[in-house]
Amino acid sequence: MTASLLASVVSACMRRSSGAGAAFSSCYGAVKRPLNGAAVSQQLRGFATQTGKKTASSDQLPLKTGRQRLVVLGSGWAAARLLHDVDTSLWDLTVISPRNHMVFTPLLASTTVGTLEPRSVAVHLHEIQPGLSRPSSGLFIADAQAVDTAARTVTCRSADGVDFTVEYDKLAICTGSQGSTFGIPGVLENAHFLRDVKQADAIRQKLIENIALAGVPGRQQDEFARLLHIVIVGGGPTGVEVAGELTDFISHELMRMYPERAKAMRVTLVEARELLGSFDASLREYAARKLIRRGVVLRKGVVHELTPREVVLKDGTVLPYGLCIWSTGVGPTPFSLSLPFAKTTVGRIAVDKYMRVLAPPSSSSSKSEPQHAGPAGQAQAGSGSKVPGLLADESDTPSTAGLAPVPHVYALGDVCANPDKPLPALAQVAEQQGRYLARVLNEQARGPPHGVPQHSEFEYRHLGSMATVGGHSAVLELGDASRRHLSLAGFLSWVAWRSAYLTRLGSIPKRLAVAFDWSMTMIFGRDLSRW
Ligand SMILES: Cc1cc2nc3c(=O)[nH]c(=O)nc-3n(C[C@H](O)[C@H](O)[C@H](O)COP(=O)(O)OP(=O)(O)OC[C@H]3O[C@@H](n4cnc5c(N)ncnc54)[C@H](O)[C@@H]3O)c2cc1C
Repeated sequence: MTASLLASVVSACMRRSSGAGAAFSSCYGAVKRPLNGAAVSQQLRGFATQTGKKTASSDQLPLKTGRQRLVVLGSGWAAARLLHDVDTSLWDLTVISPRNHMVFTPLLASTTVGTLEPRSVAVHLHEIQPGLSRPSSGLFIADAQAVDTAARTVTCRSADGVDFTVEYDKLAICTGSQGSTFGIPGVLENAHFLRDVKQADAIRQKLIENIALAGVPGRQQDEFARLLHIVIVGGGPTGVEVAGELTDFISHELMRMYPERAKAMRVTLVEARELLGSFDASLREYAARKLIRRGVVLRKGVVHELTPREVVLKDGTVLPYGLCIWSTGVGPTPFSLSLPFAKTTVGRIAVDKYMRVLAPPSSSSSKSEPQHAGPAGQAQAGSGSKVPGLLADESDTPSTAGLAPVPHVYALGDVCANPDKPLPALAQVAEQQGRYLARVLNEQARGPPHGVPQHSEFEYRHLGSMATVGGHSAVLELGDASRRHLSLAGFLSWVAWRSAYLTRLGSIPKRLAVAFDWSMTMIFGRDLSRW
């Protein structure tokens, strides 16, 4: 009873940030002859093939209407929310992203051991915004490569190497971040990252492969131990959740199928500072106790080097491993670093309180955006594209008060920060920013009811933090550090965690898929098939 009450409180709290997609069916019904992004891409590819090296131009891109075109780069949390909320009767949409789906990252750790199937946590963008099927809109599987703010174009390259450009009236850069290696040798080559479903599946395959290989007759004892040793680097929520999922998998499916290997299996979690550093001390303690009791070795240390078989720590400790999962935080992508905008000290694109991208006045066009209220370019930021250092602090961003907003260009999510108020790289930040920008753009397109529209600045509301620790337990905090409403650990938190994320998943089919996977895992166990 208490559990369900708590769950509904949390999910109601979380739901407040997700809103409702009421207009989906009517939008969809209006499409007579849908020409989807894939079809247009095919035409585009055909054109490029016929003309040899000739670069396709925006003439081949979606039909032009009287509506303004919003170009969205990326298909993650920020982009998905923006696309969901933007009014497609006012805006034509072009989405550029190497992925045609949004990954529901809070549930990604569960796919590494098969508690959930990868497809259950990937939501196709057409499910989020059916208006993308219109002939005047499009989703292109490509990487954005450069932005020309004077010509208002984005240069893109598809996965198979076709270059093309798209024109924008407004541009939203939502290209996220990437796992940070801090320049530590061997990490990129040898570690597994956990940022998308492909990487999660690669972890699952490697885990199952190592378990199978460990059992080969004649296997040396030290090799047996190495193959069955998983090292997780990074004790944030993702690292802790993966460790918890692994202990569940080991104590259930592995113990049932291969008890000897299950007993030999070891999980080591390496953290340089604090486990779950952003949580309350009591919750951190609970998580540590729980993980240790479930057999996880918690090790304080800084990684010096990663070889194909060993994690070498700065204090000289060598940890032979069969699988190393790298989850130490995020940094900017080469694309965002290459853009000619101001950056914070950790390399994020500097934005102002209206999510407008900032740049030195010379690189921002002279045309201003009269629709926006408020002073322009008050944010402080350093320019340049230096790769950030390990311990760089965004609040140290030097003052460059002369920055100005780049007309018509916004950035949302992990890729950016307002140097006056830097926010953490979180899904809830990205999602709230996506919702904010959709509202601003809808108001701009509708025009002001009485004179010039006065947009309020973006304000972030931290809903809380959660992490599972295995064994039907989780830690949960509602509210932020200044206004903590509730801190809870144990089974109730786990129920709340599951309820909250189930209700927040982007579409009903995916909610059903996740509920189905959880039930299957509970009744029949996880699938250990390998291919
Ligand atoms: C395993 C995991 C668990 C997490 N759990 C939580 C959690 O429980 N709660 C929470 O608040 N946060 C969580 N996070 C963090 C959260 O997922 C991120 O903060 C969030 O995804 C940021 O959203 P975004 O839209 O800025 O970027 P992303 O969601 O990363 O999306 C970026 C998009 O840009 C695309 N892209 C990249 N480069 C280009 C390019 N050159 N051109 C075009 N497109 C490009 C990518 O393909 C992707 O679609 C988790 C993250 C991970 C990895």
